[in-house]
Amino acid sequence: MSAIDDLPPLRDVIATHGLSARKSLGQNFLLDLNLTAKIARVAGDLTHSDILEVGPGPGGLTRGLLAEGARRVVAIEKDARCLPALAEIAAAYPGRLDVLNEDALQVDWAAALSAPRKIVANLPYNVGTELLVRWLTPPSWPPPWESLTLMFQREVAERIVAQPGGKAYGRLAVLTQWRSTARIAMTLPPEAFTPPPKVHSAVVHLEALAVPKFEADADTLSRVVKAAFAQRRKMLRAGLKGLAPDIEDRLLAAGLKPTERAEQVPIEGFCALAREIARP
Ligand code: SAM
Repeated sequence: MSAIDDLPPLRDVIATHGLSARKSLGQNFLLDLNLTAKIARVAGDLTHSDILEVGPGPGGLTRGLLAEGARRVVAIEKDARCLPALAEIAAAYPGRLDVLNEDALQVDWAAALSAPRKIVANLPYNVGTELLVRWLTPPSWPPPWESLTLMFQREVAERIVAQPGGKAYGRLAVLTQWRSTARIAMTLPPEAFTPPPKVHSAVVHLEALAVPKFEADADTLSRVVKAAFAQRRKMLRAGLKGLAPDIEDRLLAAGLKPTERAEQVPIEGFCALAREIARP
């Protein structure tokens, strides 16, 4: 394995700092620095961006990002045991790495970075979906980030990029693809991680669109999609009847069949329905 930097191999870092993986923190580490540099490259040119990394752990992906030229990395890590290892990386890249020993769910991260901002992370699986939903639903659009490059369980990655007509298509696909482009850039087997998780993983790359693909109020769309997929086996007129007493008329006005099921409806259809629901 060719070295991407002059720091010690990650196995040595883990041994030196006693970083035994904790399941409660979703710790499955990437130890192959060529692989972490490859993930960093999925995010595109990093030299003009500030990068938010959630959960750097012993720093494999952090080193990948810095070696690939990231202007600056702000890394939020909950586990204080990782701080000495991350301090060694910060010393090797003066002025380019700041580590916050915080819970990523509690931090106002955007204020800590200058635009343009990219988010790149091998996320802890237990908080990954919640963080993604938060990043996808900022108070206004465009969001404070220009792209997200994130590791998920493969099954979650497939739900993010899913198209209408299949079981994977649901709220996550609509929420994501309404105002960003999304693709699976890499898939990784369990053995890529230490310790190996039970499932395959995948890196998803999302780019924020300047404006949403179809007009709709974000909160109304979110309400419609949540209700539609809460009972995905039901016909729309049954699943959505709580949204408006005249839901059948509104479905027809939006160009949707009241007998259709949510998983058949493209994003454009949900947006049309959200506009009809928002009508007085
Ligand atoms: N990025 C490292 C890598 O690729 O080897 C570690 C990835 S590991 C899957 C997830 C990391 O997120 C762990 O280091 C864990 O301590 C950290 N973590 C878990 N929950 C967190 C939270 N709420 N906020 C910040 N970091 C968290």
